[in-house]
Amino acid sequence: MCVDCQTFLHGLIAKGLLFETGVEGLYGRSGIFEDVVTRFDQLISRYGGDDGAEVIRFPPGMNRELFEKSGYMNGFPQLAGTIHSFEGDDRDHAHLLEKQAKGEDWTALQKATDIVLTPAACYPLYPVVARRGTLPESGGIFDLSSYCFRHEPSQESTRMQMFRMREYVRIGTPGQVTAFRALWLERAHKLVGQLGLPFELDVANDPFFGRAGKFMASSQRDQKLKFELLIPVESTGKPTACLSFNYHQDHFGLLWDIKTPDGGTAHTACVGFGMERVTLALFKHHGLDTAAWPKSVRDALWG
Ligand code: AMP
Ligand code: ZN
Repeated sequence: MCVDCQTFLHGLIAKGLLFETGVEGLYGRSGIFEDVVTRFDQLISRYGGDDGAEVIRFPPGMNRELFEKSGYMNGFPQLAGTIHSFEGDDRDHAHLLEKQAKGEDWTALQKATDIVLTPAACYPLYPVVARRGTLPESGGIFDLSSYCFRHEPSQESTRMQMFRMREYVRIGTPGQVTAFRALWLERAHKLVGQLGLPFELDVANDPFFGRAGKFMASSQRDQKLKFELLIPVESTGKPTACLSFNYHQDHFGLLWDIKTPDGGTAHTACVGFGMERVTLALFKHHGLDTAAWPKSVRDALWG
């Protein structure tokens, strides 16, 4: 093993599957890596494709005003990323370049734009659904995918700052929504089993910030509102959350005033697939050469 290949991440870089950028958690992806991501994406569609989900693709940035209303800064200010841009005149420009040349912080000369980076694929969806008015009897089911940003730099390959999340989101009555989550918990067993990956399912919580966050995290766990499908990737002792199953109860329904036809507040749930994390798990368990992966796994992805 080469000196630089001591970690899984270095092995991936040495093999040319990921490319360093000089920033932790920000990588280029090779054609082979992307092919696995694409095939996994298609496999997800084979499981969820018959549910009649409405496909929506948002860009990796969302409306800052709607992001503020979503309450993300209450729970996760440490993860958020905002987009700033230069809006000054010639004098400000000269000032900026001077600071940059001196190695000083020039970014304060920028201003926040109307766009923030999307923290989870489903965040831009709720205001769109709310604008449509009362839900139909069948509720709503959505197929989303987005690059997401979370400021959590790390040397672990599985903890990226920019990564893709595929999601199915269910919006409707509590019964519709809990049935959806139960269905996906069952489907996930089969799907990840087909990929030949060891896994366990466990109750989880989101990384809520600060002192108030501790209370929110334990209440989320007590109510079993979040499950994660964990696969050992970086270490066997601490497996990595590769899929998440979230039941938000009426949190987003209340926030965005989404109603069911009986006048009740809509409940929501989502299942999120970490596209890079599952791809990395495949490389970890089946080796860095996709041609040598077990036939059953190749058939599931490329068959
Ligand atoms: P969450 O909203 O935290 O449940 O995230 C949904 C899914 O996105 C998780 O199950 C992970 O597979 C994936 N994910 C979350 N954070 C990261 C990250 N920092 N890097 C790569 N994938 C991530
Ligand atoms: Zn979601």
